[in-house]
Parts: sequence; structure tokens; C-alpha cells
Amino acid sequence: MARPAGGGKNTVESCRSVDVLEWHRRGYLRPPQWFSWAWTRDGERVASINVETQRHGVTLKYRSRSYGEGWRDVEQRVGIEWTSCRLGGERPWFECSAAANGDYCGRRVIKLYGAGRLFACRHCYRLAYASQQESAHQRGLGKSQKIRMRLSGSSNMLEEFPDKPKGMHWRTYERWRRVHDVAEERSTRGLMGFVERLGRRTSRRA
Ligand SMILES: [Zn+2]
Repeated sequence: MARPAGGGKNTVESCRSVDVLEWHRRGYLRPPQWFSWAWTRDGERVASINVETQRHGVTLKYRSRSYGEGWRDVEQRVGIEWTSCRLGGERPWFECSAAANGDYCGRRVIKLYGAGRLFACRHCYRLAYASQQESAHQRGLGKSQKIRMRLSGSSNMLEEFPDKPKGMHWRTYERWRRVHDVAEERSTRGLMGFVERLGRRTSRRA
């Protein structure tokens, strides 16, 4: 299918994500197996990766192209951790395998983003591009962290939302929770917009 001249190249570089819970729901995490995962836009397939499922992880296999380089084959191993659910059963997490400034990330996350050469968690992409504009993300994040601390929780967004402090009305607590969720959502969307813009910029240069 024909694309408008000059506007068709950004599809390969656009923001892609993989969701460990979705793969779990589809039964893709039962080893050993292979599957192929594709992203589409307007009904067209724009990118795909092959995935090999092992006992405690997956290997993502795909081709990637950076600025000034040709296509390269990439094999990225991502650990899968299982934790037990309160109501029984287990749920999987990706263990982010990215390293920033020499520090291995290892965060347990549901989604990994393929905005650069590797798939990494949203925290890693934020670190890697901290010098860039991410105001919506930062504002939302700062707000949700403040609410967590106000409820005697930590500012760590990977932890569960804090329990209701003693003496606080449920209605007040629930209001804070709603404000928090909206801010967190906004911060994630801000980051996604940022990653997408970054992808477009990369593809224009390529
Ligand atoms: Zn990470």
C-alpha cells in the first residue's frame, strides 16, 4: 500500500511496548516456546519481534537500526519473576535488564518500552533522557509522589499505594487516591508522548 512521500519512515521507530500480563494471559510464558509479536498501525504491520520463552525469562530477538548504522540483529534476554497473588496463583513481572551509567536496573515492571535499541522500563528511559524536556511527566510524577509521602508512604512509585493512615477519613483517603491516580496516569502519558516524539526525531535523522 502506498504511503505519502516522505512521511512513511517513522513507523519502524515509533514507540512500542510489550506487556508481561498480556503475554501471560495468552499463555505465551509457558516454556519452552517461540512466538512472534507484532505492532500494527492503521491495520498495517509496522514492526515485530520474535520471542523465545525459557523457564525464568524470555529472549527478545529483533533487528534494530541506530542513526548512522545499518540494521543489527539484537538478542535481549529479559528475566521473568513470579510473585504470588493475594488471592492465590502467581503473576509475572518483567525484570528490566537495562543498565544506565553502569547500574543494572532490575526493576519489576509490567511493561517494557522499545524506544531505543533495547526494551527497557519507563524509569530507565526517563533516566537516559533526563536532560530532555519531560515536563508533563515530571509534574505528574512529583504530584503523585507528594501524595504518597503525605499518606506516610515512600516516594517510590514501584511500591503499592500506601494504606490509609490511622485517623484519616476514608473519604479523604479515597480522594487523595483519585488525585494520585490521575497524576500518575498523566505522568505516564507525558512520558509516552515524549518517547514517541523522540522516536520521530530519530527516524527523521535516519
Ligand atoms: Zn529499567
